[in-house]
Amino acid sequence: MSALLVRYLPRTHTPVRSCNYGMAIARRNYPCKDFSSRSEFRTLYAIITGVPLQIWKLCPHASGVNSIQAIPAEAPTPRLQHIQFPLNAIEKSIVGGNLAILRALRRRANSASLPVYLVGGPVRDLLLGRPLKDLDFVVEGDAPAVARDVAQEVGGEVITYRRFGTATVALPDCRVDVVTARRETYARPGALPDTVAGNIYEDLARRDFSINSLAAPLAGDSPLLDPQGGRRDLEKGVIRVLHAASFLDDPTRILRAVRYEQRLGFRLADETLAQMLAAVQGGALATISGDRLRGELKRILEEASPAPALARAAGLGLLATIHPALGGEANIPEHLLPAAASAGPLVYMGILAYPLTVGQAEAVVQRLNMPGEWAKVVRDTVAVRKKEPALSGPDLPASHLYHLLEDARPEAVGAAACLSPSPAARERLSRYLTSLRQISPPLDGNDLLAMGAPRGTLVGRLLRQLHDARLDGQITTEPEARLLAQQWLAQEGDRTKDG
Ligand code: ATP
Repeated sequence: MSALLVRYLPRTHTPVRSCNYGMAIARRNYPCKDFSSRSEFRTLYAIITGVPLQIWKLCPHASGVNSIQAIPAEAPTPRLQHIQFPLNAIEKSIVGGNLAILRALRRRANSASLPVYLVGGPVRDLLLGRPLKDLDFVVEGDAPAVARDVAQEVGGEVITYRRFGTATVALPDCRVDVVTARRETYARPGALPDTVAGNIYEDLARRDFSINSLAAPLAGDSPLLDPQGGRRDLEKGVIRVLHAASFLDDPTRILRAVRYEQRLGFRLADETLAQMLAAVQGGALATISGDRLRGELKRILEEASPAPALARAAGLGLLATIHPALGGEANIPEHLLPAAASAGPLVYMGILAYPLTVGQAEAVVQRLNMPGEWAKVVRDTVAVRKKEPALSGPDLPASHLYHLLEDARPEAVGAAACLSPSPAARERLSRYLTSLRQISPPLDGNDLLAMGAPRGTLVGRLLRQLHDARLDGQITTEPEARLLAQQWLAQEGDRTKDG
């Protein structure tokens, strides 16, 4: 499908590295047109609505490579599911514990008039025809008491957070949140909210985006509650906050917005984007703790495809607010990722950390208050990058390659395997991840002792030599390993006698 690529270049702005974007345009074979006037740009945009449109816009607030924002191609209007009875539709698309809990709550809603609602993500995903994940319920009343009652019926456990009026019913195959409807106030921007019990409308009004503010009452065949226009925004493919101060109240919503936008192929509503950029420039992300910031970053890294959200976060200057050195283009070569796929979501943290100096890496670790696992990925990525001269050198036996990398987290190796400028290093890093790392020593210490090896450091040394011989392809089978070990033990015996 062809697309028109349009660039808006304000006259006052000198495009930085514009040649790279020219090349990107050329590579994609998009016809391209540049505009220097916003109205001309908007007019054209209006005329050609309906043509798949990719817009590269130079953002006047930033500089360098951050100044380019890729606005996703105009989202094709998502086809909303026409669902008359949402709860029946949900019952058909869930199984096991989720289904048992939904049915138990529906019975209470119908027979005991319990005001309980299915809210947020599952309703959104149902309307979009996407697979449902965890179910979230809101109760106008004592949610922990309802959760205990339901857990007793379905044979689950309850974890209660009484301070927040929330509870989780845990079954072997699912975890379902049951939450007391509440309204929130923020003592200061970025603070955790103060909450008091409220009704469902107040609860929907405290949410992040209109598309997450839909509720399905569990009683009868009631229609969806949609006080924030969530259905309309799902139809238009738009992420919209519920009020102008939303990003200031809770800046984690900035990263959440980007995550949903990229996951769903939506776009940020114009006002929402403007409010987001204003909040970012006003330092909103600096008002939240490292743990909360990392929590939302983690959700991005755990997406099925985190690269677009990271690139968008970089383009909007969000990553640079964590640390300026993270602000470069999140140039994630997706075609190389399969090599690193075995490494898991934290490989993307390594990808972000790859260009950092040791000092910058430490600053990022501190800002995000990283737990050990995260911090090691960041530090190891920088350490692996520093080994690249050795990794790209002419002769590197497999055993040497192994020992260069054995202490590094696989995510760090995966990140370098994606980003190293040296093809030789990339190939070796991938080989380490996909094969060498899995190769274990062919014998263990007990085998060597049984073959007559004396207890002591010799056992460790021989095991390492056997491992190296296997890595270098000198031996492949266990009998070969035994033969080699016997020869070494004999030589060792001769040396001891001679000595
Ligand atoms: P996902 O599909 O990523 O799990 P979800 O919608 O289930 O999406 P959660 O992060 O589990 O998202 O949050 C559940 C609901 O709580 C959201 O749908 C949203 O309405 C609300 N929510 C979560 N975080 C915030 C926030 N920071 N501000 C306001 N509402 C929030």
